[in-house]
Amino acid sequence: MVLFTRDLRVHDHPALATACAAFDRVVPLYVLDPALADRSPNRTRFLHQSLAELREALRRRGGDLVVRQGDPVAETIRLAREVGAEGIGLSADVSRYARRRERRLRAECDRHRLILRLFPGLTIVEPGALRPGGGDHYRVFSPYHRAWAVADRREELAAPRRVTLPDGVRPGRLPAPPKGESPGAAVGGESVGQRRLTQWLPTLDRYDDIHDDLAGDETSRLSPYLRFGCLSPLAVANRAGGTEGPFVRQLCWRDFYYQVTAAFPDISISAYRRGATEDWRYDADALAAWTEGRTGMPIVDAGMRQMRAEGWMHNRARLITAGYLTKVLGLDWRPGVAVFFRWLLDGDVANNSGNWQWVAGTGNDSRPYRSLNPVRQAERYDPDGGYVRRWVPELASVAGRAVHQPWRLPDDVRRKLDYPPPLEVPGADPVWMR
Ligand code: FAD
Repeated sequence: MVLFTRDLRVHDHPALATACAAFDRVVPLYVLDPALADRSPNRTRFLHQSLAELREALRRRGGDLVVRQGDPVAETIRLAREVGAEGIGLSADVSRYARRRERRLRAECDRHRLILRLFPGLTIVEPGALRPGGGDHYRVFSPYHRAWAVADRREELAAPRRVTLPDGVRPGRLPAPPKGESPGAAVGGESVGQRRLTQWLPTLDRYDDIHDDLAGDETSRLSPYLRFGCLSPLAVANRAGGTEGPFVRQLCWRDFYYQVTAAFPDISISAYRRGATEDWRYDADALAAWTEGRTGMPIVDAGMRQMRAEGWMHNRARLITAGYLTKVLGLDWRPGVAVFFRWLLDGDVANNSGNWQWVAGTGNDSRPYRSLNPVRQAERYDPDGGYVRRWVPELASVAGRAVHQPWRLPDDVRRKLDYPPPLEVPGADPVWMR
């Protein structure tokens, strides 16, 4: 049996490829886990789309995706016993929930004399494979990146040609994709991801120049497909230059946060950096204004509204919006993590919390006290204001970079705009208001 979790593909899938090479009969299984449902309507929709595609891909190979609903450990063991499985293969994962699921599955497999084997595939280099002298994981990105670029990699694997189910296995119903929350959300699935990769690759040579251009919006947008394993990160890296280049370096950030999370599973609840100061303000109104994209800081509101509209936000806007919540408003990063986690198609524990902690200064940044000035960021990365005008239509009539500081517009112009003044922070006198 192959238990799928967030590796929803047939290409370069070590557990599936190994099972199909070693056994005549293979049961690919996905268990819809009620404990993971409802956390994000956007991601649930993307998941169901991806499952439907995976089922199709397995059917084309003569097999099927067997779908069950309930506790993944109980359902997996029940089916394994029904079909008389010898063993279960599973891609290793790092979050606290996934690790607990693995441990429970191992205990049940031991009890029922089933073999459980964990496989790589969620990252390019496996979490824990690289260790600095004297430590169990890398805390700083640059040395990790140097080690990562020269680390051994496994061979990329082709999709199995045939998958044959044992007789009499009931495939089970795959519920129709639920409605998401974001009208402009990308559609899930392996072939959609592959197409997007192929279409985007000609941009690769320009990545270094364009990846921070908010209005240009030319990054790969592959993150949701990597999040659900519709794409193999190793296969993406191989097609994008292997070990070097600025785009592959971003894939290394992904691996970096996975190995941090494997070593520090509390990443979404506790400060990673020892001695980090955490004296956040409490301000429910400011948090709500930030969440809903009405802070009065146009670049921040644009980012938050993009996320709500598309289930995705540009990386530069994520840095600006997260920096604004924590370093400008002085609010705790944890509610920020939760808001992103609800909306983002790519939302996952390691990358979401790892990046938030980096921005908040509680994580892996070696300069934890740095703070991004949102106006300067806007002028630099959205110099003509096109990103803001796209997402904040109330400001569509304001030409050029003036759109980044509507509070400086003449009174009569400003009053006609249906847009709030910037939130005030008690005791703060931000430079951009002077
Ligand atoms: P590209 O620029 O095309 O990069 C290619 C791939 O590299 C991405 O798909 C992603 O897998 C990886 N990558 C790029 N930047 C990072 C990074 N900083 N950290 C880790 N991996 C990276 N990314 C997520 O996948 N899930 C999250 O939940 C998430 N939350 C974030 C929260 C905050 C506060 C910040 C600042 C960043 C977060 N990121 C997260 C990282 C990054 O913003 C997204 O991966 C990126 O914007 C996705 O767009 P893309 O696929 O076009 O990226």
